[in-house]
Amino acid sequence: TEETLVLVKPDGVARGLTGAILARIEAKGYALVDVRLVEPDRARLERHYAEHEGKPFYEPLVEFMMSGPSVAIRVAGNRVIEGFRSLAGTTDPTTAAPGTIRGDFGRDWGLKVQQNLVHGSDSTESAARELDIWF
Ligand code: ATP
Repeated sequence: TEETLVLVKPDGVARGLTGAILARIEAKGYALVDVRLVEPDRARLERHYAEHEGKPFYEPLVEFMMSGPSVAIRVAGNRVIEGFRSLAGTTDPTTAAPGTIRGDFGRDWGLKVQQNLVHGSDSTESAARELDIWF
């Protein structure tokens, strides 16, 4: 079995979608190992998003992630890293497939950063690194 880090980002928490997102993870059959509400400081976000430093959306992304609490979730299951990314849908919420979290609940708000409701680790290395940052 495998573990991944899922974040319900500040837009998802503010819109009251945490329960709906948790329900989809559970309905898929993954296990919720740990869940916590986190108000990350800049240092934590700079660690989390280190790979994006210098990109045009980096600073707006860090600011957005400091705009309110996120819900961090440790999720376990066979191939859960790939599986959660499939549940989440592609980055751009306008074109994310219907049936996915981003496709069903997200849209482009015309802001500098895509407010796409969730984050999911993209590899076993990222998952280990990110779980250590958030838990
Ligand atoms: P995916 O890997 O499925 O694309 P992700 O959440 O892992 O989704 P990243 O590429 O790691 O996406 O980018 C981190 C976050 O930065 C995105 O979720 C989104 O909020 C924001 N972002 C990424 N690319 C852009 C972009 N071109 N314009 C605006 N915001 C972006």
